[in-house]
Amino acid sequence: MESKKLISQMTLEEKASLCSGLGFWETKSIERLGIPSVMMTDGPHGLRKQGGETDHLGLAQSVPSTCFPPAALSACSFDRGLLREMGEALGDECAAEGVSILLGPGVNIKRSPLCGRNFEYFSEDPYLAGEMASAHIQGVQSKGVGTSLKHFAANNQETRRFSSDSRVDERTLHEIYLPAFKKAVQEAQPATVMCSYNKVNGEYASENHWLLTDLLRGQWGFEGLVVSDWGAVNDRVEGLKAGLELEMPSNSDYNDNKIIAAVRSGELDEAVLDLAVERILNLLQRVKREGAKTSFDREKHNDLARKIAAESMVLLKNDGLLPLQKSQKIAFIGEFAENPRYQGAGSSQVNPIMMTTALEASKEYANVTYSKGYSINSCDQPDPNLQAQAVNAAKEADVCVLFVGLPPAYESEGFDRHHMRLPGGHISLIEAVAAVNPNVVVVLHNGAPVEMPWIGKAGAVLEGYLGGQAGGGAVADILFGASNPCGKLAESFPKKLSDNPSYLYYIGEGDVAEYREGIFVGYRYYDAKETGVLFPFGHGLSYTTFDYSNLKLSAPSMDDTQTLTVSVDVTNTGKTAGKEIVQLYAGAKEKDERVIRPEKELRGFEKVYLQPGETKTVTFRLDKTAFAYYNAAIHDWHVLSGTYRVMAARSSRDAALEAEVSVNSTGQIPFRVDVNTPFRDICKLPGGEAFMKGLIAQAPQFTTENSGEEPGSIGFMFMKMLQDMNMRSFLMMGQPDATLEGFQAMLDAQFNS
Ligand code: BGC
Repeated sequence: MESKKLISQMTLEEKASLCSGLGFWETKSIERLGIPSVMMTDGPHGLRKQGGETDHLGLAQSVPSTCFPPAALSACSFDRGLLREMGEALGDECAAEGVSILLGPGVNIKRSPLCGRNFEYFSEDPYLAGEMASAHIQGVQSKGVGTSLKHFAANNQETRRFSSDSRVDERTLHEIYLPAFKKAVQEAQPATVMCSYNKVNGEYASENHWLLTDLLRGQWGFEGLVVSDWGAVNDRVEGLKAGLELEMPSNSDYNDNKIIAAVRSGELDEAVLDLAVERILNLLQRVKREGAKTSFDREKHNDLARKIAAESMVLLKNDGLLPLQKSQKIAFIGEFAENPRYQGAGSSQVNPIMMTTALEASKEYANVTYSKGYSINSCDQPDPNLQAQAVNAAKEADVCVLFVGLPPAYESEGFDRHHMRLPGGHISLIEAVAAVNPNVVVVLHNGAPVEMPWIGKAGAVLEGYLGGQAGGGAVADILFGASNPCGKLAESFPKKLSDNPSYLYYIGEGDVAEYREGIFVGYRYYDAKETGVLFPFGHGLSYTTFDYSNLKLSAPSMDDTQTLTVSVDVTNTGKTAGKEIVQLYAGAKEKDERVIRPEKELRGFEKVYLQPGETKTVTFRLDKTAFAYYNAAIHDWHVLSGTYRVMAARSSRDAALEAEVSVNSTGQIPFRVDVNTPFRDICKLPGGEAFMKGLIAQAPQFTTENSGEEPGSIGFMFMKMLQDMNMRSFLMMGQPDATLEGFQAMLDAQFNS
């Protein structure tokens, strides 16, 4: 039956009941009207479907499902196709388990490396995060299963997550923290969006009308349903008015009764409730699961998980130690080799169907020795015995592969890190092994960047992040050269925590988290500050080499209403087949005093597979969004006319080729000139310079001597000072017969018509 018709047959109590969960994971049904209940589960990189006890912290068991690599790793693939494939596989698993909505993906920006949930998020860059999320959603939803884009919005820390207030200026919200949500909504229409726990500029996200209605639905055209994060509802009636349709989990009728009372008292217009119920019914209609359960191929999904991990892991450094040779005496050292950290803790924790460790998988390639080196559960300090055994093994080996990283206690949903260091026992192990064997390969398992004071002692470093259930296989594939590494970092690795732009402000004062670094997040900051980083955003090595040539722009100039086509040739100049991620950055050539901007921003990327000697042309299309910034005065995007650099790059710090395009803005920023407007701004207006010259020529105090052009002369300095004067100060310098009103009339006639 059509939703509106159904609603007309419902009692007030029934309507209110539909606005919250039945238990932890299901919506409520109304049998007499044939309204079904549907199930949702976490998400994002596997299913956490709980059969018995339920919780949202990942404590109780869930049915086995494929644990794909979490977003921190899969984002490094820069591969939309791969993310879509993963989404499809997840969709199949949901269908097989009778799950209608998979909670994810999370597109929150990695503002600080300390956020305990960074492993669940894609990137510090909104463009990359939005692309990855869209592909993931399209994949899952192609199987008739819904998704939940989360956590909307500005949810970038775990500390005080139920009460913190993210204070973010309008421009920063639009340029950094919202675009990934916007893109995913507009390109993939997730069935639901999950509002976050925190406040955004003073108002809980769960009752923020601007966020949930004006922006999400009004401006972006979201067609689905807003669901609360588990327990995010503060004031249920205000939430409903703001656009939060479904509260999860169950509120044991407490909030349902408030809705009923609010309608009865006239505080809540029943039409608001009806609209929410209509959206809930539409969602149920869209994602309800009918008929027999399907099945999926577990082995195939495991293979896919391995492929995604192998195509995402990032070779950070390689002085030639990798790939390993079968003939070498190889020592694997570190408990992560046999007991890897493969996913993060909390609500996204999946019960994997199977597990491949690097130690097991390496048997496919060579004989390796193994020593534990440390114990995962007590590695803050070195374990003298385990470390001594590892050192002995290292002495016997040609090459040592050290498996280190962050144990689960170091990073998790629900709390943030306080530092970026590896556990003391891991650092000590690296140093002790490097002291007896110069050939050290480090494999890292961590959900977010770590400091590497030991980097000079490692000949190669593979960033394995959290690899999912088949991550160990992927590590072995890369170490032994069966897979050519082709991931690149989706986030910057600063040399030290205090280099990070949010360092001074993260995690705020009490409940107030001010995002004072503004738009300068990640590489946008490191570039602008010319700060050296340990590894830049977009960095990743391969076992082959790539050359860039022939960068071409379709036109030397364009209007901001037009599209620019950019093409570049990429050649595999090495001996191994491999994939290169070509990154396209754009930025204004000159600093413009009107707007503070990052030097450059990621505006496109493509991943290409090339046989040795092969060349492919990679093409990008750039439109207004590549050159625009968000102007808070007009509450919209605007392009400044000028010359822009377009860079085809291997990483954010390695632009292989660069070209320029002149962009002409067709937009207008309303600007009223008044007696306080500095002369420098007047000079930039059409006819402004001539106007000023005329004014100066008539002023008695501007003798030729006073308006010299010789640098260093008094006249020159005077002219410089003049730039920041305005009509008011000009008048005060003594203009016979002039009045402020007269000056304003002059300005109005000249500029404000
Ligand atoms: C998390 C969500 C998750 C939900 C359900 C919350 O604590 O923030 O990401 O989907 O629990 O488990």
